[in-house]
Amino acid sequence: MILITQATVTDAQIDHIVARIEGFGLRSQIMRGDSRVIISVLGPEDLIREKPLAAIPGVESVVPVMKPYKLVAQENGALPPPVSIGGVKIGSGQRIALISGPCSVESKEQVLSIATLVKNAGARVLRGGAFKPRTSPYSFQGLGEDGLRFLAQARAVTGLPIITEIMDTRDLSLMEKYTDCLQIGSRNMQNFALLKEVGRSRLPVMLKRGFSATINDLLLSAEYILSEGNPNVLLCERGIRTFETMTRNTLDLNAVPILKAKTRLPVVVDPTHGIGLREFIPQMSLAAVAAGADALMIEVHHDPEQARSDGEQALQPEVFGDLVRRIRAVAEAVGREL
Ligand code: PEP
Ligand code: MN
Repeated sequence: MILITQATVTDAQIDHIVARIEGFGLRSQIMRGDSRVIISVLGPEDLIREKPLAAIPGVESVVPVMKPYKLVAQENGALPPPVSIGGVKIGSGQRIALISGPCSVESKEQVLSIATLVKNAGARVLRGGAFKPRTSPYSFQGLGEDGLRFLAQARAVTGLPIITEIMDTRDLSLMEKYTDCLQIGSRNMQNFALLKEVGRSRLPVMLKRGFSATINDLLLSAEYILSEGNPNVLLCERGIRTFETMTRNTLDLNAVPILKAKTRLPVVVDPTHGIGLREFIPQMSLAAVAAGADALMIEVHHDPEQARSDGEQALQPEVFGDLVRRIRAVAEAVGREL
């Protein structure tokens, strides 16, 4: 950590800063500039981070040297293996994965028929919500355990591994009976109790970016999961809230190359929630592949008009099938494959 003093700092204040640092069991090195003094604080990074250095009189700013998300950044480690969702490896280099299915599981027939359609089109993981985070308490909340059972039945028929959202720490053991991957939704990205709980699970976790979260916030939330011992985290960009009202969210494709540069965790893009308008999901899917996404998550419904959630942004299976062909072409153009 580097401390930069105020221009008006006095010698007595500098002596006090150094005494405080030593009092914390840390060491210091002083560099005097023309107007300011720069003090390096040396010692264990975790210890330094928890000390109230910015509160010492005469200190203007405190600049960290190490990234606060050290496990996610893999600064000291070798390349982690790709994350496997029931045997489908994501982030293993060339190959991009498509994760697809309905927003909500509505019935056994619905999820089975959509699972078959998306599998035939090229999807490798089935998504579907059994516990739904709805803005209104009066909206459809999901089928709960029945929904999980229907997903598992669809997996048994199609062979597609499944991903579904967990909203409550109390549901983890139930989820572990059924699913291959846990989804943490945008609204729960900073539910730290939930992050710690899934950090103790053996299942991989797809962490969706909060719609008001910075990239740094997303990385720190991922750090919560890794710090509990679960290294199998996928980061998902799903759009953020901006002043723009023409779209549901603003899909922040800037995040993709940045996340890829700052961490070696696989990066998933969800263009469905990112733009929220069915007709423009294909364009944003192709852009996400060009930006470097390792997987795309796309909602598909065979009868969007009847969907119990997010029908307005669900692709019809034929449109999804056509999109898969175009994704393949863009993937090849950028040196990837589907
Ligand atoms: C979803 O994937 O269906 C979902 C609710 O997404 P988000 O948490 O990104 O809104
Ligand atoms: Mn949805």
